[in-house]
Amino acid sequence: MGYGGTVACTDVDCVYRKKYFLGHGMTPVYPLSSLIMELHPTARPSVMEAVKDRHVCHYEHNHSLFHCTNCDHVFKKVTVKIEFYDGGSFETHRRCSRCKKDRTKEIDVGELENRICPKCKESLLKMDSFILWD
Ligand SMILES: [Zn+2]
Ligand SMILES: [Zn+2]
Repeated sequence: MGYGGTVACTDVDCVYRKKYFLGHGMTPVYPLSSLIMELHPTARPSVMEAVKDRHVCHYEHNHSLFHCTNCDHVFKKVTVKIEFYDGGSFETHRRCSRCKKDRTKEIDVGELENRICPKCKESLLKMDSFILWD
């Protein structure tokens, strides 16, 4: 079951509102090659390289929200985790999409509350609603 939420600006005159769908739905994306096509183009080669000539036993994807502790950027990213029959595993990177540093941590949508609105850059954000999706 996926989850998520909507954040909105506390200033009524600012129309900023963003909906985040996180986690993963009930339906796995099958086959793996079509999941790869859903990834950011720059992430695809590393996954294709990792699965080349190996037997995949399990894979999962996740829509996650990350906060960069280096530049304070918040971004959504699809991460993929793959396990192989030989015992190895592979996970896509979580580098910041803005500063490219590897100092990100996964956050929950609720943690966006009280951050400065990215649109008006004055008022704070609040949680507007929570979502469950599949
Ligand atoms: Zn950053
Ligand atoms: Zn605003």
